[in-house]
Amino acid sequence: MRMTERKRMMRLVPIIGVAVALAIGYWIGQLRDDGLAAQGVSPTMAMERDYYVPNTEDLASDEMRVIACGTGMPTTRAAQAAACFLVELGNGDKFLFDIGSGSAERISSLQIPYDYLDKLFIGHLHADHFGALGELFIGGMLMGRHVPLRIWGPTGPVPELGTAYAVDKMVEMYTWDLAGRQGMIDTRGLQTEVTEFDYRGENHVVYQVNGVTIRAWPAIHAIDGPVSYSLEWNGLKFVFSSDTYPNTWFNEYALDADLAIHECFIAVPALVTKMGFTPETALLVGTQIHTAPEAFGKVMSTIQPRMAVAYHFFKDFDTTSDVYERIRKTYDGPLSLAEDFMVWNVTRDTIRVRMAVVEEHTWSPALASPPNPPDMADRAAMSQRLGWEIGYSDFIRNGAFDVDDVLRPIYEEASRVLGREFPYPERNR
Ligand SMILES: [Zn+2]
Ligand SMILES: [Zn+2]
Repeated sequence: MRMTERKRMMRLVPIIGVAVALAIGYWIGQLRDDGLAAQGVSPTMAMERDYYVPNTEDLASDEMRVIACGTGMPTTRAAQAAACFLVELGNGDKFLFDIGSGSAERISSLQIPYDYLDKLFIGHLHADHFGALGELFIGGMLMGRHVPLRIWGPTGPVPELGTAYAVDKMVEMYTWDLAGRQGMIDTRGLQTEVTEFDYRGENHVVYQVNGVTIRAWPAIHAIDGPVSYSLEWNGLKFVFSSDTYPNTWFNEYALDADLAIHECFIAVPALVTKMGFTPETALLVGTQIHTAPEAFGKVMSTIQPRMAVAYHFFKDFDTTSDVYERIRKTYDGPLSLAEDFMVWNVTRDTIRVRMAVVEEHTWSPALASPPNPPDMADRAAMSQRLGWEIGYSDFIRNGAFDVDDVLRPIYEEASRVLGREFPYPERNR
């Protein structure tokens, strides 16, 4: 009797099993449907995407947005520009930290009015940290900066190794460029204002305006001169090492950082296999001049930021895991391995990390101030300085091929289309 009941029960097991499986399947299906509905998934409606498209999101009044405009190395490559980070604040202020080679193109892709990009802080004067200064200076002016470019940076042990010397000589290098533009365009943006501060200052304030405090302290890199920075605003703290060997100043003054960006050099084996360094040079550069990944991790374990950002390595499919695993030997906190166009939205409660999707075929962004008409007084002043009247000599002018017959109609067309007279400039020939 008992056996018969048991057999009957046993026969029911598969039926009960199927019923339970169906119920669970239905329940999961319901959950999934609810989840999809909550995400707004639909075959016809637009769906939210998890990336940042410049100029499509307001910055909240208490929010900081940081965009990597260069994360690479001194050797140039299309995939990564050299060091440059943009900090945007909810009070409207924007700051550039370093302007490494190739970063000017990244900045232009963000389509930010150039009047807003007038504050640059340089950590040290290696080309991969200020090599695109000329493009920001000249190109930024051509794309709408009508105010001087303001630059902050350290002194050197002698004047020739300081920021002011480097900027002065850059402007001097562009003498022909600047001469050729006088009297042709609005040249208010062709001015630089350099604030040089003592590279030995320890956590000293180098900028304090509009609730924003920027401090600097010494970095250890190559020779005397480099510095690291912090920017504090609205209870948020951004830190940028530029380049440095691990140091006690950073450990102390980067404490409490919300976003701590510190160099993290490519691992030594890759310096040998991919850069062609000898083992001796790779060990020296990869561990003594720069911060090795294992040492980066140790720094971050010391300061414990809300988000650690490693940059200054070529981030490829066959290098990233090595850098990551080496960092993880010494640090297990929040970590971003930076690449160009990585974006961090920082508030007191959250740090959102995304990639930006940007337009490459950009033109000038919107103007934040109207341009002035060209002023021939600019040309007169520079002519006097050069002791030569800016323009064409008779010798060069006489070499012009006469194409007046095809150019004159362009002026006539403009006059007709725009409804006012544009006289043909006979004087240029
Ligand atoms: Zn450097
Ligand atoms: Zn560097």
